[in-house]
Amino acid sequence: MKLFFIGVGEACDSTHGNSSVLVTTRCGRKILLDCGFSVPRYYFRYFPEGDDLDYVWISHFHGDHFLGLPLLFLRLWQMGRTRPLTIVGQEGVEDKVVQALELAFPGFGGKISFPLEFHIVTPGYTSTIGGIDWTTTLTRHSQRNLGLLLDDGEKTMYYSGDGQATNQVQDLVRGCDCIVHESFSLVDTFAYHGSIGSSMELADRAGVAKLLLIHLDRDVRENDKDEIDTLVRRRPGTLLPVAGHSIEF
Ligand SMILES: [Zn+2]
Ligand SMILES: [Zn+2]
Repeated sequence: MKLFFIGVGEACDSTHGNSSVLVTTRCGRKILLDCGFSVPRYYFRYFPEGDDLDYVWISHFHGDHFLGLPLLFLRLWQMGRTRPLTIVGQEGVEDKVVQALELAFPGFGGKISFPLEFHIVTPGYTSTIGGIDWTTTLTRHSQRNLGLLLDDGEKTMYYSGDGQATNQVQDLVRGCDCIVHESFSLVDTFAYHGSIGSSMELADRAGVAKLLLIHLDRDVRENDKDEIDTLVRRRPGTLLPVAGHSIEF
């Protein structure tokens, strides 16, 4: 499994872009995890010929996680895509995406050149889509957010979207190969966001070495740089990726 970090920032981060990860599975399926405001620009900067996406996962309906979709669709349409694109997300995802598309580019939904397909997942259950197991669970966030465990038959990875990990998240991530977790602050400060400290505790309790910290508050990333570096260095397997980084496991 390969992860490419399209962006690693929070909603307003003008340096690191909105958090988004391109996953390539064992069989070569490509899954974009979240598509916020800035993501299409970064995505096509890295992958100018990137119309080989199979799935887009939407963790929740905050703009930094889904409002890049209209621009992604527009660019894929310009590239002449005809192959279906599947959006995977929670109940209501089709309405939200169709509304966003109509607001951004009125009438465009009617002439889009490729079928948009939607697959709804339910927290607590596993859906097998394209030979990949997608298991989700609720996190604690100000919008209903689903954490996602992907299993391609060889490796497993967890992507938090936004929010603090719950006991269900703890159960879900146990023994997985890699955790990508939002870590808005240094230690838990906000009721509806994770932190570097709690992400490390989650990974330690789950017996997972590989931990990638994303979605840091831009001021924390800047002002607490030394402390963050020390924490990351102290825990082997922990990485603070930036846009353009990739890892394979
Ligand atoms: Zn966010
Ligand atoms: Zn959010």
